[in-house]
Amino acid sequence: MQLKTILNRVQKFNSFVYGAVRWVEGASVPTLEIELQPRVNSRPVCSGCARKRPGYDHLPVRHFEFIPLWGHKVFFVYAPRRVQCGGCGVRVERMPWVEGKHQLTETYSWFLAGWAKRLSWKEVAEAFHTTWDHVFCSVDRAVTWGRAHQDLSGVQAIGVDEIAWQRGHRYLTLVYQIDRHCKRLLWVGEKRTVKTLLRFFRWFGKDRSQALGLVCSDMWKPYVKVLAKKAGHALHILDRFHIMTHLSKAIDEVRAQETKELKAKGYEPLLTKTRWLLLKRPENLTDKQGTKLSELLQYNLKSIRSYLLKEEFQLFWAYTSPYWAGRFLDTWCTKTLRSKIAPMKQVARMLRRHQPLLLNWFRAKKQFSSGIVEGFNTKAKLTTRKAYGFRTYQAAEIALYHTLGALPVPETTHEFF
Ligand SMILES: [Zn+2]
Repeated sequence: MQLKTILNRVQKFNSFVYGAVRWVEGASVPTLEIELQPRVNSRPVCSGCARKRPGYDHLPVRHFEFIPLWGHKVFFVYAPRRVQCGGCGVRVERMPWVEGKHQLTETYSWFLAGWAKRLSWKEVAEAFHTTWDHVFCSVDRAVTWGRAHQDLSGVQAIGVDEIAWQRGHRYLTLVYQIDRHCKRLLWVGEKRTVKTLLRFFRWFGKDRSQALGLVCSDMWKPYVKVLAKKAGHALHILDRFHIMTHLSKAIDEVRAQETKELKAKGYEPLLTKTRWLLLKRPENLTDKQGTKLSELLQYNLKSIRSYLLKEEFQLFWAYTSPYWAGRFLDTWCTKTLRSKIAPMKQVARMLRRHQPLLLNWFRAKKQFSSGIVEGFNTKAKLTTRKAYGFRTYQAAEIALYHTLGALPVPETTHEFF
């Protein structure tokens, strides 16, 4: 069987035929070149208006990279014709395997983008003997296409989240669709300001925003403010994951401070290596951690009291009635405010301020899956942290859309990936 036969099966072009196939002598990586020719009597198509036009002249031969085959780089070789178009003037013809001035064929570009969902961009570049820039460009095109073709109808629930980016205090705002039937990243924006989230709503559009039934976010003031303004009709809930994160951060702070104090006073280092122990749920502790915890419980330490307050707060989520949950919250906040532990008191004050929003949780309980924002948060962090070699914010944004956006891809006759 000839290579042409295979190519005609997987990638056939109506107005072009495959010609000679040859090895490239002296190439650094084994390379195959496959000639393409216009079908006899076929007229070129203008790239400007997509109409058949009379030929004008030929441009020099160009190389278009195709999917590598058995460790060989594969290039289509073709001398594009130019057309004399009544409307567009002298234009290069449309070539169905490539878009614009790109060097990669469409098929190869989608192939690389597909792999870039599973591997880091660097790994993809290495695996297929191509460059990081080619992978980047392929993913960029896939994301642009996908975002232009995605269906945004029927979004009823959104979750707003933030992740820290590039060490230090730069943030990204992420907006997810969190409906039961469809969960995906909808939008990414730089920073976490009022302006950032307003930009989301501008993009999302008024009609779609009006159709929202549920919005979910952290207690972060700019988010709460914008959500009230732009989706005030929707039920706003504060999700469990973010609230528990605030408590964990408070415990971390208390523990670090107390460790220092104990050391300064010359006590034995009771709290070393207890960080995870205090952050984990008791049922997730190892035997050894369990023993250590029961030991620690004998001491009247601030860290331990904070830990117990946090564990007690877990009960909050088990309520079904907003009324009783509210009573519980009141009691818990009062108790915590009397604890004399500053970081915990701060969280209690914050929770008290957001009581109505917090109680919305119980009004919305059955409408969306609560773990979803946390799941996305983990994946988003992994995506930005993974060694993609992001040099710019733009690259991180594209990677997030690519991995979490559930973006559509064009239908093709043959699945290369
Ligand atoms: Zn034209």
